[in-house]
Amino acid sequence: MSAEPIDILGLTSDELAERARAELPSGHGIAHRLYPRVMREGLFAPAGFPISGESSQAWSSRFSAGFLRVVRVHEEPGAPGTTAKAILATHDGYEIECVRIPMRHADDGTDQTYTLCLSSQVGCRMGCTFCETGRMGLLRHLTAAEIVSQVVTARATLGWPARNLVFMGMGEALDNAENVIQALRVLTDRRGLGYSHERITICTSGHAEGIAKIAALGWKRLNLSISLNASNDVDRSRIMPVNRKTPLAELQRVLAQYPQRRNFTLGVNYCLLPGINDRREDARGIADFCRPLGRSLVNLIPYNPGTAPLTHAPSEDEVDRFIAWLREDGLPVRRRITKGRSIMAACGQLGNAALRRQRAPVPPAAQ
Ligand code: SF4
Repeated sequence: MSAEPIDILGLTSDELAERARAELPSGHGIAHRLYPRVMREGLFAPAGFPISGESSQAWSSRFSAGFLRVVRVHEEPGAPGTTAKAILATHDGYEIECVRIPMRHADDGTDQTYTLCLSSQVGCRMGCTFCETGRMGLLRHLTAAEIVSQVVTARATLGWPARNLVFMGMGEALDNAENVIQALRVLTDRRGLGYSHERITICTSGHAEGIAKIAALGWKRLNLSISLNASNDVDRSRIMPVNRKTPLAELQRVLAQYPQRRNFTLGVNYCLLPGINDRREDARGIADFCRPLGRSLVNLIPYNPGTAPLTHAPSEDEVDRFIAWLREDGLPVRRRITKGRSIMAACGQLGNAALRRQRAPVPPAAQ
């Protein structure tokens, strides 16, 4: 018998059934019936679910569902819809953030769709200089259950159905690869939330070991995007310290080994920092980096100044000029419309100094 109740949110339905079978005489059946409702309704004991007194007590002592508590929600109305950031509390008092991003307006007769931007860590140790979360340092990894709970809580408690999921919130997802991979197993479980890999994107700053771990799973439909942000090692190491460990040539080599389905497109996120990475040669360097990697799409993200700005937000002209250069060099580009800047929910703006002071950071893991 386990001392601590097992958190259902971190298990696939088969894993729960297996554990339940070992714990309770009728556990297997209960698990299969309860699992979809816990995941979809966000309740540990959904109304009308019949478990007899003794089994119910035994179930509650062996299992739990660690839903994150909604602390507050900030909203920024705009086109194509309202961007919203939820602050969620973990059981040990940390606060993390997830963001609902509107993707399309319902003026074509279809429903508005949303992408949910998920956190994978409390803080982050990668230290990207343009990022608020990076300023917090790493406080701790999120468990698989806490990652899944963001989706369940968003859907069931906040009424935020999300068509797509992207690991682009607080933290470097692949620095917490084991928990993120387990969360992916749970999120894609057809008896639960049932996301397809195609609807999920892992975004990484260039964590080579993590990319290799994900690649080894052979999940060809899972989307991958990298934060590039500079196309030469000197600038990139300055903006993103991860580049000192994994320089661009090595990152390119690891990405070239990522299993690609026929229509796979590597997302290349580029935060445009005026005066830092917006020269003509920077655009050319991005094209050189992407060339051997198959199909890629540059997501150009205008810099969102945070509490300690590196530079100003680029003007429309600066953004347009850089996009034109990328296109001249043969790259498909999508300009990311800045959403959520006023509520500090835009790219690079998640995290806050209060959280940084809340707990002492954990020491960096051996690299
Ligand atoms: S951009 Fe991502 S990887 Fe870099 S510090 Fe911020 S959260 Fe971490």
